[in-house]
Amino acid sequence: MTTYTTASTVEEFRQHLAGIHARIAAACKRAGRDPATVRLLPVSKTVPEERIRHAYAAGCRRLGENKVQEAHRKWQAMSDLPDLGWAIIGHLQTNKAKLVAEFTSEFQALDSLRVAKALDTHLQALGRSLDVLVQVNTSAEASKFGLAPDAVEAFVKQLPAFASLRVRGLMTLALFSADAAKVRPCFVRLRQLRERLRQSAPAGVVMDELSMGMSGDFELAIEEGATTVRVGQAIFGARAVPDSAYWPPVGA
Ligand SMILES: *Cc1c(COP(=O)(O)O)cnc(C)c1O
Repeated sequence: MTTYTTASTVEEFRQHLAGIHARIAAACKRAGRDPATVRLLPVSKTVPEERIRHAYAAGCRRLGENKVQEAHRKWQAMSDLPDLGWAIIGHLQTNKAKLVAEFTSEFQALDSLRVAKALDTHLQALGRSLDVLVQVNTSAEASKFGLAPDAVEAFVKQLPAFASLRVRGLMTLALFSADAAKVRPCFVRLRQLRERLRQSAPAGVVMDELSMGMSGDFELAIEEGATTVRVGQAIFGARAVPDSAYWPPVGA
């Protein structure tokens, strides 16, 4: 088990971020990739405002949050930081689409037409548009969120109907395991799916992004082509809230 130390000062955030960027660079080197092609999205769920402000001072300009209401609260509290953007990376219910449309820069967990429709309606009313990623379930037995890989092509074909959604690519959560032999195939599956979709995606749908990899597996994800890694605990410190609060296992 890796232990994640908590960053509480600007200096500690600088150190943690520098450490992650060094690990990203090393993984890129192994994979023959340019580190500029990998975006680090720090994930600040459960982290209170005071420490988020230190992360901002250390350079963070976009943060990932799993739950809409928590993100919205933080956005309001930190409205004095207008260049701090928010990415929703967790499952969305249609009744919260209005809130997402109001303040977010990015939504990474699109997995139903109902949510696409609700987002589009509210975004159009506000005259906004939104970058979105389609969430794919690459670990069938382990998670109940995201589309089955086989369903993604037909789903993506429907998305041009929602003019305010700028489709940028795919997102996944890998199987939770310390065993790379089990985790890596999830990332490979997402990359191969993107390659296939690039042939068939309708006009206006861009299949560039692969958002995959978290604190425990982002280096593997980079080796398999991740363009965004979503890293929480390795930057902010260990969370007290168990992961099952965010991605309940099948049957829960
Ligand atoms: C919390 C979360 C992460 C980051 O997980 P860490 O273990 O904190 O790095 C990544 N993706 C999603 C969807 C999350 O909810």
